[in-house]
Amino acid sequence: MVLAELGGSISRALQRMNNAPTIDEKVLGELINEIARALLQADVDFKVVADMRSNIKKIVNLDDLAAGHNKRKIIQQAVFNELCKMLDAGKPSYTPKKGKPSVTMFVGLQGSCICWVQCSGKTTTCTKYAHYYQKKGWKPALVCADTFRAGAFDQLKQNATKAKIPFYGSYMESDPVKIALEGVERFKEENCDLIIVDTSGRHKQEAALFEEMRQVYEATKPDLVIFVMDSSIGQAAFNQAQAFKQSVSVGAVIVTKMDGHAKGGGALSAVAATKSPIIFIGTGEHMDEFEVFDVKPFVSRLLGMGDWSGFMDKIQDVVPMDQQPELLQKLSEGQFTLRIMYEQFQNLLKMGPIGQVFSMIPGFSSELMPKGHEKESQAKIKRYMTMMDSMTNEELDSTNPKIMTESRMMRIARGAGRPMIEVMDMLDEYKRLAKVWGKMKGLKIPKRGDMSAL
Ligand code: GDP
Repeated sequence: MVLAELGGSISRALQRMNNAPTIDEKVLGELINEIARALLQADVDFKVVADMRSNIKKIVNLDDLAAGHNKRKIIQQAVFNELCKMLDAGKPSYTPKKGKPSVTMFVGLQGSCICWVQCSGKTTTCTKYAHYYQKKGWKPALVCADTFRAGAFDQLKQNATKAKIPFYGSYMESDPVKIALEGVERFKEENCDLIIVDTSGRHKQEAALFEEMRQVYEATKPDLVIFVMDSSIGQAAFNQAQAFKQSVSVGAVIVTKMDGHAKGGGALSAVAATKSPIIFIGTGEHMDEFEVFDVKPFVSRLLGMGDWSGFMDKIQDVVPMDQQPELLQKLSEGQFTLRIMYEQFQNLLKMGPIGQVFSMIPGFSSELMPKGHEKESQAKIKRYMTMMDSMTNEELDSTNPKIMTESRMMRIARGAGRPMIEVMDMLDEYKRLAKVWGKMKGLKIPKRGDMSAL
């Protein structure tokens, strides 16, 4: 994950501070230096780091803190708040409303599509964005106004067809303004409430392409312009983002490829510096690997504190409404039976990448579904479910693993037509998950981004 190294460095620095016998100016100074170094190494803009440094020093004035104050907690909170401030650029210039037609124009840097790194991932992101809203009951539509890159229309068409989203484009027409206008008009007539216009990628040095983008902007009068930026862009991010913003009034940003190994700090800090908030992040090539970006939960996760609100969002996405209160109740009581595991497997298989969900649980890595092995993991989960189909109600509803005697395991293996070793594997997996979920016992589910409850 992008920024994992940065998160690790900051967490370690905080841990060292926590282990220091007393908190004095020297310990605080070392902590601030370590954090600044880690941010610069992750490509965060120099000025942003300098501001953060002086802000923490200003907020944490050790002389003013009376004895008895928990200095460690105050420092930790100040670091957390400053990281949030760095990433927080307020609200997007426009928030689409369901049922009210609106036009969103996607802009971004040019990619060759031969080199993975150069493509911002704009076309893929248009479809992910449309798919995200479609799942929530909107009527999105895609318009391909990228007449520059050969194959752009085919790519959009393929993505849109897969996601069952209406699309518009042309193989013959070379004027992007004309296509954009025709597409927007058509989908307005068809009462689509989220019309997405994909444009060609470009660089700030290319005046003619910038002018063309401006013309599409003038003609379609989008309600929102989204700048798509690859997380690996580094320090160049600031100038590029600013150039786009000045030309077409960028109102929001999406950072893609957050699943890669890029340093990421450039993209994140530059967008904050241009005052356009990040609204989503791309976390993989799959259509569902797309997450709402919320600053506080993101920083919580970055520092290894988990992301309860993201986790709750995912639960709400996949668990049927009528089952949600019951599940939350059971989890807060620390009850985790094989039946709950079965039901959650059912729900989670519906949404695709389970790893995304588990990585949000504090202290839990996505062992069950490691990245790149999703197919194998899904097959494994289905096998587990077949075995659970051979269990009795008593076995499924018990919270006592001791009832699983050898004769019961043999019966389950026979019933499911699987070797005994797999039944044992499945029960080990259950015990591991039960341990993790057991940590939720008595936990007050925190409100969005409330670190103090963690
Ligand atoms: P464009 O040229 O900027 O429109 O970029 P494309 O949408 O064609 O994407 C370029 C490549 O990046 C494709 O292989 C996409 O599947 C991939 N891609 C896009 N977003 C993500 C992401 O969030 N994570 C990963 N791993 N790949 C992505």
